[in-house]
Amino acid sequence: MLEKLRHLFLHQRALHKQYRLTLIHRTVNRFFFIGMVASPVSAAHIWLFSQYQATTAAEAQWRTGLLVYHFALMIAAAVLALIAWHCRQRPVAPGMLRFTYWLGFITVLLAGVVVVTVDQLVTPAVTPFLIACTVIGVLFLMPPWHATVICSVLYVCFYYAVGITQTDPEILLSNRVNGLTATGVALALLLIQWRNTTVQLNQESRIQEQQALLEDSNRRLQRLATEDELTGLANRRLFNLLVKEELVLQQRHGRPPSLILLDIDHFKKVNDEYGHLTGDEVLKSLAAILRNSVRSSDLVCRWGGEEFAILLRHSSAQKAAEVAENLRRKVEEATFQVNGKPIRITISLGISEFDHSREEALDEAYQRADHALYSAKNNGRNQVQTSPATQTTKKTEVPVV
Ligand code: GH3
Ligand code: MG
Ligand code: MG
Repeated sequence: MLEKLRHLFLHQRALHKQYRLTLIHRTVNRFFFIGMVASPVSAAHIWLFSQYQATTAAEAQWRTGLLVYHFALMIAAAVLALIAWHCRQRPVAPGMLRFTYWLGFITVLLAGVVVVTVDQLVTPAVTPFLIACTVIGVLFLMPPWHATVICSVLYVCFYYAVGITQTDPEILLSNRVNGLTATGVALALLLIQWRNTTVQLNQESRIQEQQALLEDSNRRLQRLATEDELTGLANRRLFNLLVKEELVLQQRHGRPPSLILLDIDHFKKVNDEYGHLTGDEVLKSLAAILRNSVRSSDLVCRWGGEEFAILLRHSSAQKAAEVAENLRRKVEEATFQVNGKPIRITISLGISEFDHSREEALDEAYQRADHALYSAKNNGRNQVQTSPATQTTKKTEVPVV
């Protein structure tokens, strides 16, 4: 039993630590509405009391007391509404929030205790204290142990204050008993509010966590659907999509793109000699060279295996041949360091310019580039070939691996 209570206390304390500022913020937000209502209501009270002429000394004291009290409450409520409005508009320091929270509490506490004390001059009723208890119970969000201390302070204030002006011992006892009930109502309301709000906040944070997880896995799925996992380049699906878009745009601008297809020469040997994992590292390094060697507006894709495709926007076959030759040279000159082993490779490249006059689709341009690539392989590899002309731009025999 004791262990259970200890566990419950620790759980509530953890909740309080987690949500303390949120609870204070929510409470302060509520001051805006209560302040906006309480301030004009107090003004109305002042007007009503000013219409009333006291006939006895006690009534005059009562009237003056309430006039002063309502004037103070009108100002305090307006100030609280203003501060709460400020807190709703922009983020404020936690210290400011805490100050407003306790200012609100003291205002309501004084409202209940002072009015009931002044009221005892002419009536035995404790209605203002009951109202103050209800307002505290409904307005404030606080953990159970704070609520218990607060309600105890509230009752002690009421207990002594009501004794100042109520001289009839039976009425005084009755009022103190009623005050105890009112304080109990406040405590019960505070506990219910605490429970409801923390449950709601827990649910909100769980939903937020799940949403973040969902967004994360959506992003991952999207990446998987559009990106090649090994090299991080666009995959075939994304490439097809973007090329289609480019072709539509190109019809408007009239500057066709070109396609480069490139394939690593004798890549099987790299795998056979150094292993598949080393081959993967070579593919990654080659992808980085390709990405860094073209314009950011060009599109590099891993077509599959050790074959890559590049779409050069607004580029003629001649311009593409220059880019391809530059790539070929870069790869030929590069030494790929994998686990301390120097590996050298060469690539063969085929080029086709999209046929502007007949709105050629990717499939056809691919076929022509593939054909040119095939020629490059047949002609001895490590070279660039352009479709339809199969002109060799360079051929250097590099000892492969
Ligand atoms: P060629 O010059 O005619 O292109 O010769 P090649 O050896 O490069 O061509 P082939 O089609 O015979 O072999 C392709 C090799 O590429 C075989 C395959 O294991 C390797 N490969 C394909 N995808 C990957 C990959 O993701 N990782 C690794 N390490 N190797 C791959
Ligand atoms: Mg190959
Ligand atoms: Mg191949």
